[in-house]
Amino acid sequence: VLHQFNSTGQELDENGHAIHKNPGLLKLLSLAKGEIPLLLGGLLAMLGSSGSQIVAPLLFGKVVDAANKSIDELNETVLILLGVYVGGALASMVRAYLFVLAGQRMVARLRKKLFGKIVTQDIAFFDVNRTGELCNRLASDTQVLQNAVTVNISMLTRYMLQILGSLVFMFILNPSLTGVLLAVVPVVSLTAVKYGRFVQRKRKEFQDKLADAGTQAEEALSSIRTVRMFSGEKKANDLYGKDIEKSYQVGKQLALAQGTFEGVIGILAYGAITLVLWYGGKLVYEGNLSAGVLTSFLLYTLQVAIAFGLLSSLYGDFMQAVGASVRIFSLLERSPTISSENGKILPNLNGYVEFKNVRFTYPSRPDVEVLKGISFTVKPGEMVALVGPSGGGKSTIVSLIERFYDPDSGTISLDGYDIKSLDALWFRQKIAMVSQEPTLFAFSIQDNIAYGCCATDEEITEAACQANAHEFISQFKDGYKTLVGERGVRLSGGQKQRIAIARALIINPVLLLLDEATSALDAESEHLVQEAIDHAMKHRTVVVIAHRLSTVRNASKVIVIDKGTIAEMGTHDELIQQNGVYKRLILRQLTVGSVDETSR
Ligand code: ADP
Repeated sequence: VLHQFNSTGQELDENGHAIHKNPGLLKLLSLAKGEIPLLLGGLLAMLGSSGSQIVAPLLFGKVVDAANKSIDELNETVLILLGVYVGGALASMVRAYLFVLAGQRMVARLRKKLFGKIVTQDIAFFDVNRTGELCNRLASDTQVLQNAVTVNISMLTRYMLQILGSLVFMFILNPSLTGVLLAVVPVVSLTAVKYGRFVQRKRKEFQDKLADAGTQAEEALSSIRTVRMFSGEKKANDLYGKDIEKSYQVGKQLALAQGTFEGVIGILAYGAITLVLWYGGKLVYEGNLSAGVLTSFLLYTLQVAIAFGLLSSLYGDFMQAVGASVRIFSLLERSPTISSENGKILPNLNGYVEFKNVRFTYPSRPDVEVLKGISFTVKPGEMVALVGPSGGGKSTIVSLIERFYDPDSGTISLDGYDIKSLDALWFRQKIAMVSQEPTLFAFSIQDNIAYGCCATDEEITEAACQANAHEFISQFKDGYKTLVGERGVRLSGGQKQRIAIARALIINPVLLLLDEATSALDAESEHLVQEAIDHAMKHRTVVVIAHRLSTVRNASKVIVIDKGTIAEMGTHDELIQQNGVYKRLILRQLTVGSVDETSR
């Protein structure tokens, strides 16, 4: 099953409707399982720090009353208060350290696990999920979860403790005054919760709009060359600007909502405090309460009010975390349908490839059958050329040999074994692929060449020599340590291709999959690349998407793929005799220079 997500990260079903899943708080907490010792330590420290906060107002009141009695009692009470404060601060320090540490450990572990999950997903998954969105999940969703299961939970417990503890002390100090306070608390908290939800909705809407803009930015910046080529800066800017404008509109409402929220809650909260002050003052006036106890009481009231306010802001954080965790869990629990491991590993691979009646449809485009019953064999040592009009399915066939996708029906086998039963991690190491536009990583040249294996410097140089790349690499100031830039932007097309050939050769592949470059390279470069390719093809089993006449002439077998079927198959000479599609392709090649593009 493919998982699709909309821009807000909600998972979609086949019809594009959002699927609502609530992983629940328990599952969210399960992420913190590895950190239980740290969290317990933090909790213990929290008891200390909260305890000090709960006792402090009482001592405060005692100080006020002691000031009315004797200097000795005053000094003694102040010292105790100081001790309680210092003890509380130390406990706070330990608490904050342990909780934040637990969070950091958790998020580091989660990110590694999540990336591991993403990177092993089926290729089909990447046909539908945007890179920017996946990176966003790695960066910000995990951050939100980190806060939720550590800092936010610690705050939640802390404020609950403070509220409960304070209320108990208040009740002991003066039940009737507490009664007055408790009467107004529901009014304040109900308003806070109701309004808080509204603000929260707006905040989420804002985040979603912002994420849309982020995806736009990622797309434009990662293809900056194409943007420049088509003078698309303004267009990109407009697209991004439009999304930012949308987020700003929500942001405006959010500003108003947040402002009003604080105003309303402020009026209610301070109103409640004033009420307590008035009632308490009355009690003091009537001689039923000491000034010290009133002071303590007021401090408790403030403490409870602040804790309530902070608790209501936590609600929003938790809701955000639930959203993030839906997205994260759907990834963590998603197993690729094509498992690379646990298959058979053969003692050696001869490179006998067989397609038996293979039908295939891209999962991301279910209404178009791309391959409609393809059967052919590639014997060890053979060079098989795929030709035909573009869009016919040649690259798809090559992707299926790598097992990027599984066919809908029919079988693909290697040395007689269905590739579904083989360990893909193993056989992919025996197969090398060089595409028309090879992608290099932003590493050094040597790390790019050795990407598929661990090789010694000599082996790297050897592969580069075979790929006609050694000479230009040696001319760089940093030689093999030259950094190639993102996707190899610092190299020419021909240079990139020769490095890609070296990268393929170094693993000494049994089977070489090639997509011949069309005439995109200059003559000099093309000659060097071609020489390297010709060298690479020698003494190997090769499947090549051919564009050059000399390649098809030399091929043991030419397969003409047209609209997902095999139109013709045979040697170059046989096919020319047949006077069909192939002959027309070749005639066109002689005038245009490529056997690929045909007028259909
Ligand atoms: P060729 O290599 O012969 O030019 P391809 O194998 O690239 O042809 O493409 C065959 C068909 O499959 C085309 O119609 C193309 O649009 C479609 N196609 C290729 N890749 C994908 C993909 N990742 N998702 C959906 N459709 C695809």
